[in-house]
Amino acid sequence: MPGNLSGTFNVLRLFTNPSLCLPHHTISTFDQLPIPLSSAFAGRHGNEKPADIRAVVLDKDNCFAVPQQNHIHEPYSERFQQLRQAYPGSRLLIVSNSAGTSSDPNGAEADLLERNTGVQVLRHSTKKPGCHSEIMAHFRNAPDSGVTCASQVAVVGDRLFTDVMMANMMGSYGVWVREGVIEDHGLLTRLEKGVSGFLLRRGYVAPDPRSGFE
Ligand SMILES: [Mg+2]
Repeated sequence: MPGNLSGTFNVLRLFTNPSLCLPHHTISTFDQLPIPLSSAFAGRHGNEKPADIRAVVLDKDNCFAVPQQNHIHEPYSERFQQLRQAYPGSRLLIVSNSAGTSSDPNGAEADLLERNTGVQVLRHSTKKPGCHSEIMAHFRNAPDSGVTCASQVAVVGDRLFTDVMMANMMGSYGVWVREGVIEDHGLLTRLEKGVSGFLLRRGYVAPDPRSGFE
């Protein structure tokens, strides 16, 4: 499948529900990631129940790795290892729109990424944000994940229209890595930042994560 049809179709959802692209927490770079993740979402609306994050979905490109590279960006390695300790085994899952997709036909990139990180890479046929059911199936089929509903999952990534939007479509929490490893002045990135700034100024907030599998 050329490009990212899932992204193209799903971005149209923003016209009816613009808050789908808003994150629950924003950090500048991966090394600022709060661990445990639950602490990032404490007391969002004052007295509501605190978040109970049991598993984390990690984007790769411009999140913890330089785009097109399949190893951890060295200045982030300490935080990456802390994250692995806090979310061991199947509780941590890498979901990339390059490694493990149709852009990586024989899975060589995904294999290399798994060897370099010690973390499982999801093999998925639909690109983000359309692969939420494949992600939830992974957690459902891995009893050690402890995940029983989507609101126990946090998605971390640098793209509002893929990573954060997928988190909201799943009913999970979204963490936006705003600047990433390298500065991206691309049209889509500027559009994302413009749209999110516009929405926040008008009082839009990220949707409430909900419980229960879809
Ligand atoms: Mg990315």
